[in-house]
Amino acid sequence: MKFVALFGPPGCGKGTQAARLKDALSVPHVSTGDMFRDHKARQTELGVKVQQLLDAGQLVPDSITDAMVRERLGREDVATGVLLDGYPRNVSQADELLTILSDLGKELSAVVAIDVPGDVVRARLAKRADEQGRGDDKDPETVNNRLVVYEEHTAPCVPHLESKGVTVHHIDGVGSVDEITSRILGALGIS
Ligand code: ADP
Repeated sequence: MKFVALFGPPGCGKGTQAARLKDALSVPHVSTGDMFRDHKARQTELGVKVQQLLDAGQLVPDSITDAMVRERLGREDVATGVLLDGYPRNVSQADELLTILSDLGKELSAVVAIDVPGDVVRARLAKRADEQGRGDDKDPETVNNRLVVYEEHTAPCVPHLESKGVTVHHIDGVGSVDEITSRILGALGIS
């Protein structure tokens, strides 16, 4: 079973790597950021509720996020594996993920943490704002919020999950896209 959670600060290349890894692992890619952006674009009830938080770079409340992930992980297409991207984002969500998986009779196989220095991610986010025009990349204050939220709330999930017995792979995220993909696949024992 391949239940893998991907961690890394905004702008670390997580989305790019996730797209490649899901093919290598042959599992669906579940990105909570993509799910929320999709709700926002469709202006669903959830989308309307969360759009201001997304635009400010703040976390959506756990109750909303946990329920969305629990529903998603209960579906058939992720019965044998999933690549989680953007969840968990704080220690409470990390515990909830372990509970959700255990309720489903599954367990978290591994965590992959992509490590990139702060100044590198800031430069990459500025470039992405120009190229893709993603709302939450444009405003420096929002970018800064996302980095602070990552450091304060999300990064601690990695040692927390490790302390619960989950295998953690730290990957150096500085290098070419191909190099980083092969580092991750090597760590996961897929080549
Ligand atoms: P980034 O590239 O900044 O890591 P994502 O695409 O993963 O961004 O997420 C974008 C936004 O969606 C976050 O800034 C946050 O508002 C919301 N979000 C995504 N995942 C979660 C989560 N697990 N808990 C709370 N909010 C989330």
